[in-house]
Amino acid sequence: GRFGLPGRITVAGLGISGISAARALAGLGARVTVVDNGDGDAHRARAAELAELGIEVRLGHLPDGARAGETLPEGTELVVTSPGWQPESPLFLAAASAGVDVVGDVEVAWRLRGAGAELRAARGAAAGDRAPAGPAEWLAITGTNGKTTTTQMLASILKAAGLRTAAVGNIGTPIIDVVLGEQEYDVLAVELSSYQLHWAPSLRVHSAAVLNLAPDHLDWHGSMQAYAADKGRIYEGNRVACVYNVADKATEDLVVEADVEEGCRAIGFTLGAPGPSMLGVVDGILVDRAFVENRQKNAQELAEVADVNPPAPHNIANALAAAALARAFGVEPRAVRDGLRDFRPDAHRVAYVDEVASVTYIDDSKATNTHAAEASLAAFEPVVWIAGGLAKGATFDELVKNAAKRLRGAVLIGADRALIADALARHAPEVPVVDLDRTDTGAMLAAVREAAALAEPGDTVLLAPACASMDMFANYNKRGDAFADAVRELAAENAADT
Ligand code: ADP
Repeated sequence: GRFGLPGRITVAGLGISGISAARALAGLGARVTVVDNGDGDAHRARAAELAELGIEVRLGHLPDGARAGETLPEGTELVVTSPGWQPESPLFLAAASAGVDVVGDVEVAWRLRGAGAELRAARGAAAGDRAPAGPAEWLAITGTNGKTTTTQMLASILKAAGLRTAAVGNIGTPIIDVVLGEQEYDVLAVELSSYQLHWAPSLRVHSAAVLNLAPDHLDWHGSMQAYAADKGRIYEGNRVACVYNVADKATEDLVVEADVEEGCRAIGFTLGAPGPSMLGVVDGILVDRAFVENRQKNAQELAEVADVNPPAPHNIANALAAAALARAFGVEPRAVRDGLRDFRPDAHRVAYVDEVASVTYIDDSKATNTHAAEASLAAFEPVVWIAGGLAKGATFDELVKNAAKRLRGAVLIGADRALIADALARHAPEVPVVDLDRTDTGAMLAAVREAAALAEPGDTVLLAPACASMDMFANYNKRGDAFADAVRELAAENAADT
């Protein structure tokens, strides 16, 4: 078919990503069917809109009683998945046994990047514009934690270098829409989840980074090995650099196992002094020993630790990974510094909230797993830790062991708080713990008050739950907002008292 697309495509799921894929593929001339087991009002409304575009939508149960989302439509040549669909979904098994490929939105965007450039060229020629460029290069980022932050840092650096760029993938506008859109880009900073990598078999990017690897989403991938293998797909076919975390050997192992283009280099990042082919930190300066232009010099100074926002250790690691990808793309040291200075983190990621009675309050509601919480706990001492929520099968022994000596106290909330309480009792028996048996709307304010009572002047109170939020809140944003509101209330009470 046109642009190398098969004629008949089935899209799994009528969500944001499924709708974007269906519209784009139909727009390019494919015959598209969307299947979804749901059939509520919202589904019907969306289906009606797609029907206007000539897209067939099958909802709920089919006339023969089978479920729409489990049945492979006759003649399907390609299945496009949506996030949240299990790899063993009946639809995908049916596709596999029919010899039909199953791919995700990132794979579709990758395959259509040439089509996007062609369409823009045709429009530009019609408008009499200068000769347009080919498709944008991709710099890709994955890891258990820090993906969004690092991708945005990278986009900020590329922008500071005067490049036309955007942070895409797991962030913002669906990636298929970006690739096929009007806007021309030189290079894209692409955040990739392990799910997206699982379903992107032909992806071959300029350079890629794996930030870290810790157990997460194992229910979906089936095992740590399968999860790591999916993450490792990001290095396959890299042309210039595979960026890995020196402190996390599993990421380096993935580089070793990957099949890359000749001349592609392994580039490490470390919080210590860098070896050859590494970026690292010396005397508070981020330095690059991998891409040194001036052969007189052993290393290139990039930026100061204070240019990183916030300058917590895990975030300096993120900055080094972003810098490594930018440098692999040929960006100047000055643009690395300017881009890092311009960068502002998204909300609820180690965000400063306020200082009350000489105690600093920090919101890291986005720390939804133990690996993330451990990283932010490492940045503060002494610290009163507010934690708890849905554990998603995690264990807390490692985290508590590593954080124990920095803890002034802990306040536990949420459904699985007993798991954390047990770990604290085992590995930090001297640390005072308040076990808050509440899940009502006032629970966060109660937690902040308890934390304030445990804290001494100069301490930090850190919300880093190490758990998902859905037992008490709609999402991690709402949880972080509740924390910030509680701190404001505490500040107001405190001002009234003094
Ligand atoms: P992701 O997109 O991978 O979820 P984010 O950039 O949104 O990552 O950060 C999520 C949380 O992970 C942060 O709030 C912080 O607690 C933690 N975090 C960020 N970077 C790192 C890192 N390099 N290592 C460990 N934890 C990190």
